[in-house]
Amino acid sequence: LGGSIARALARVKDATVVDEKVLADCLNEISRALLQADVRFETVRDVKANIKGTVNLDALAAGTDKRRIIQKAVVGELCRMLDPGKPAFTPSKGKPSVVMFVGLQGSGKTTTCTKYADYYRRKGFNPALVCADTFRAGAFDQLKQNASKAKIPFYGSYIESDPVKIAVEGLDRFKKEKCDLIIVDTSGRHKQEAALFEEMRQVSEATKPNLVIFVMDGSIGQAAFDQAQAFKQSASVGAVIVTKMDGHAKGGGALSAVAATRSPVIFIGTGEHIPDFEVFDVKPFVSRLLVYLSGMGDLSGLMDKIQDVMPADELVPKLTEGAFTLRLLYEMFQNLQNMGPLGQLFSMIPGLSAQFIEKGKEKEGQAKIKRYMTIMDSMTEKELDNTNPKLMNESRISRIARGSGRLVKEVVDMLEEHKRIAKMWSKLPINNFRRPNNRDSL
Ligand code: GDP
Ligand code: MG
Repeated sequence: LGGSIARALARVKDATVVDEKVLADCLNEISRALLQADVRFETVRDVKANIKGTVNLDALAAGTDKRRIIQKAVVGELCRMLDPGKPAFTPSKGKPSVVMFVGLQGSGKTTTCTKYADYYRRKGFNPALVCADTFRAGAFDQLKQNASKAKIPFYGSYIESDPVKIAVEGLDRFKKEKCDLIIVDTSGRHKQEAALFEEMRQVSEATKPNLVIFVMDGSIGQAAFDQAQAFKQSASVGAVIVTKMDGHAKGGGALSAVAATRSPVIFIGTGEHIPDFEVFDVKPFVSRLLVYLSGMGDLSGLMDKIQDVMPADELVPKLTEGAFTLRLLYEMFQNLQNMGPLGQLFSMIPGLSAQFIEKGKEKEGQAKIKRYMTIMDSMTEKELDNTNPKLMNESRISRIARGSGRLVKEVVDMLEEHKRIAKMWSKLPINNFRRPNNRDSL
């Protein structure tokens, strides 16, 4: 698969006359690659038709930047498909909101409920979890364990078998306790069976959720569309969370889920633990999808941008050797600082997008980078090059805090942020970061 889009684009580059046939060939190859990334046939067909509509053949024939023109059209089209046009409901602090999670058994609902609650608690909310899954033995125990670990209040029962009753009781209790985000976990079955949908309808009717989140396993491939559509038809799904994006998921499922539910993806799950949770951002997601598809990674100019921040000649050997060290992060920040205003570029770099710097808060982001660099300035060579997770003990952390004049909490936050960024980089196909040799026509 790797390289098929690259090959398709190379053909456009090499053709002396770009006519309709060349463009058609190119689009066919792109379609094939998208299908292999689990994008649904109908979606691929639409992407193809829309690209055809936006690419101006005359411009292609005259321009030296033929690949860029097609690349831009592909990226634009994929971004458009992932954006259903209306944002999802977001809870507001102090106002009681109810969010209900639905999805098949094993899709990741219970895990994701806790991640979601934790995310909002960090933002100053007062969330609570209700276990309305009375179908699966052990469901309440699992939620209880997750919730306790995250220190989030929970409600459920070992004996009550009516999910509606529990949901209503939980809601009453947490409304009284002035929780402003009440999250209802529901049961899933192995199949999209009628009994599940009926139960979902009843819980939804009784709790009147402000938002129903459909949780989907990202690795289910072509089944995504039908599954998402079935849930959309039985519950008024308003947002999607795609889980297990750390595994073999190829990303196409997210496109299908958005197409089927006409609702946006709001988060993705990237692991079994509570912090393995990311705000979903269309642009980096499409970039990653294309990196995967192209096997070459010069699409959308993303890799060129990344290269400016972290030259491949330095990065590839370092990453191949092992970890994304603090020193690498420092060098990346240094390069970023030399490049002036952050803006667009930032949102395209893995790990530095939504979670690191919120949209419209680039100034704060710049300050954060400075703060982090100050902290790293107080580290020893050994600490900067360290790959042993146990090295950073309490005494080192307080020494660094003292040395840099920052709080211990700020040092800990930085170390956590580094871990998160390092994890994202470790998942990237690093060989795609090498610059292609013949860049002249790119
Ligand atoms: P539920 O049946 O829908 O409630 O699903 P669970 O929350 O019980 O999750 C099913 C399994 O998937 C558990 O083993 C979770 O640890 C795992 N899981 C959930 N989300 C993720 C994720 O984003 N990545 C990975 N690797 N595993 C996940
Ligand atoms: Mg569950």
